[in-house]
Amino acid sequence: MPSPNLTTPLLLVGGRLALDFANIPSYPGSPAEHLSWEELIVFLQASQIISAERGSSLLALSGSDPDAAQSLLSRSIRLRDALRKSFGAIVRKELIAREWTEPINQILRITEGHDEIVLEENTWKMEFKAREGGLDWLLAAIARSAAEIIVEGAQARLRICANPACGLFFSDKSRTRRRRWCSMAICGNRHKVASFARRHVS
Ligand SMILES: [Zn+2]
Repeated sequence: MPSPNLTTPLLLVGGRLALDFANIPSYPGSPAEHLSWEELIVFLQASQIISAERGSSLLALSGSDPDAAQSLLSRSIRLRDALRKSFGAIVRKELIAREWTEPINQILRITEGHDEIVLEENTWKMEFKAREGGLDWLLAAIARSAAEIIVEGAQARLRICANPACGLFFSDKSRTRRRRWCSMAICGNRHKVASFARRHVS
């Protein structure tokens, strides 16, 4: 397991915010069970939920207000684990247990906000703007994204990477709907190399 630091690029391969969140900490060889405060902040920054300035002030929070940091971290892990279960059920075409959605609803309940339309790369998109107040708003957009995916169900085209050792979620937006790998560069190539080796040994 590579040690988490602020320069390691995160694998944001999910294609949707809640999928990327379910995947963290997503370095090659993950996802893992643990999640550190630093990894959480790096994710929030990489997915543009917070600015770099906000990121560095949040990083300092684990020293200045460890209780607040710990409480957000526990809430994040609870949310992430609930998303993994829910998304896993969607991929396997199973029912989502009501209890898995509770951490999502909990955050939707306590985070007030509104939608705004924003122009992104010449396309208008709906964006949720959470009202600042406490640290929980940091998870608002993630909970919102998760709720949308669960409501879409099969239409969200959720997949789990075909590499059994990987386990990362992604949304298959390919035209052929046959994307198999979280990332061609990581798992896809590894697979090609392995089957090439197998063919040439036998
Ligand atoms: Zn993969």
